[in-house]
Amino acid sequence: MEKIAGITIWVLLFVLGSCIYSFLNVIIYRVPKKMNFIKGRSICPACGHKLKAGDLVPVLSYLALRGKCRYCKEKIGIRDTIIEIAGGIIAVICAWRLWDAPIEGAVVFAFICILTVVAFTDIDTMEIPDGCHIAIAVLAVISFIISAAVLPGVNEYMVTDVTLISRLIGMVCISIPMLVMALAIPGAFGGGDIKLMMACGLLLGWKLTVIAAVLAVITGGVWGIFLLAAKKKGRKEHFAFGPFLCAGMVLAIFFGKALVGWYMGFWQF
Ligand SMILES: [Zn+2]
Repeated sequence: MEKIAGITIWVLLFVLGSCIYSFLNVIIYRVPKKMNFIKGRSICPACGHKLKAGDLVPVLSYLALRGKCRYCKEKIGIRDTIIEIAGGIIAVICAWRLWDAPIEGAVVFAFICILTVVAFTDIDTMEIPDGCHIAIAVLAVISFIISAAVLPGVNEYMVTDVTLISRLIGMVCISIPMLVMALAIPGAFGGGDIKLMMACGLLLGWKLTVIAAVLAVITGGVWGIFLLAAKKKGRKEHFAFGPFLCAGMVLAIFFGKALVGWYMGFWQF
């Protein structure tokens, strides 16, 4: 009986995560088009037919319809479904890793939700909406109030532990060097990337922000070399860097401490 209850909790968390990410898909699709993302029914982008509730169940509708619109039989892109599955997995990972600190788990999950919108909007439009930066800054203030008032001094690597000083340094330690680079080399970084690192620094504190930036430069650099090698982009062209910053942030949250430990050990022999 206990086992069934245990499994049910994880399944429900997965369903909840994929439902929230289904709504994030709506934001990712509508916000750059200046559409209202709360009101208005979703339509098929191919035929414009209004979609019913049965067409909008995360993951299951895609499988039931075999990836085709019910009305016009046009193929539906798989990306939304992959994002929904990822949302379910992320909810489960947040709950599993931060089970003993549920408020932090919720803050981390909310943060990754915003980063998901940032990453995919940046991929689609090469821009990051200011609403995302504001949402991260608000989350930072909420998590600081919680960590200062409700849960002082919980686990070190978790976001809500960071002190105000660390958060203020986090705001500038990466964003200012990025701003200087952007001024020196026009187009090195977009304004959206810089604002993103300011807001994230305020949430994560400087340690995780530095780790996230290092990871973003490494993964973004590898991707840039790959694009050049595959001749997909010329040397002067740009690719969206936001997704790498977002991925760096998520990796830093879950593996930052372990990575630093490994790195220090590596140099000590
Ligand atoms: Zn259709």
